[in-house]
Amino acid sequence: MQKYPKRVLLELTLSCAAYCRFCTRRRKVDDLVQGRLTREDVDEVTKYIKEHKDINEIIFSGGDPLMSPEMLEYGIEKLSGLENVKIIRVHTRVPVVDPGAIDERILDIFRKIKKQAFYLSLHFEHPDEITEEVEEVIGKFRKLGAILLSQSVFLRGVNDSVDVLEKLFNRLTELGVRPYYIYRCDPVKGAMHFMVPFKKEVEIMTKLRKVLSGIAYPTYVIDAPGGYGKVPVPLGFWQNGKGGFRDYRDGEIKIIGP
Ligand code: SF4
Repeated sequence: MQKYPKRVLLELTLSCAAYCRFCTRRRKVDDLVQGRLTREDVDEVTKYIKEHKDINEIIFSGGDPLMSPEMLEYGIEKLSGLENVKIIRVHTRVPVVDPGAIDERILDIFRKIKKQAFYLSLHFEHPDEITEEVEEVIGKFRKLGAILLSQSVFLRGVNDSVDVLEKLFNRLTELGVRPYYIYRCDPVKGAMHFMVPFKKEVEIMTKLRKVLSGIAYPTYVIDAPGGYGKVPVPLGFWQNGKGGFRDYRDGEIKIIGP
């Protein structure tokens, strides 16, 4: 799938290790008939990317790309050989829900990325998911030289609290995982009860911005309906239309200059 001019997202397989109830792709996840790319599909994608020199970034997603190691390996082999590909990103929740699955075979697949910057984006919802095994796996990824990111989803009754998210983002940062995005939960049929009131999310993220270091603070976004991208949510610091903002002590500051 190519939504942006410079990057291509490959849904390698629609199998997943987690089957999150709030999954926005739940209608697609585990469509085993249409859900798995073949070598021929990857060959076609490789040809397309080779012909479109502007593309510099490949994102392996799913489902979960680690549920199909043989296709991930094939995809990495083919695409890491292209001159224009400078960034390879893999999005996965397997290391969090099944850290034991990260064996030497998986690590060897990642070791094939030699020329590109390698970003690995892990999906965490709660600090309790950071177990000893998960920490061990994170250590292995760091030894590979992967740049580690995290993504999370706001979930009512799970992580809709300053304390929980502060703990999660701080611990991830200590482990070398940079919190990257936190999403507003999509309005998924059958999982609406996970949605946190929007005002509460803004309040939590505004409070977190005051207590977390900049490197521990993810961008809070809404995934726009229809696949139109992630839109950052303005925090409570901004007085929209009034030409000013509030500082961390709630002092009002006017914008100076044009
Ligand atoms: S890990 Fe991601 S793709 Fe898989 S079920 Fe959960 S939200 Fe959906």
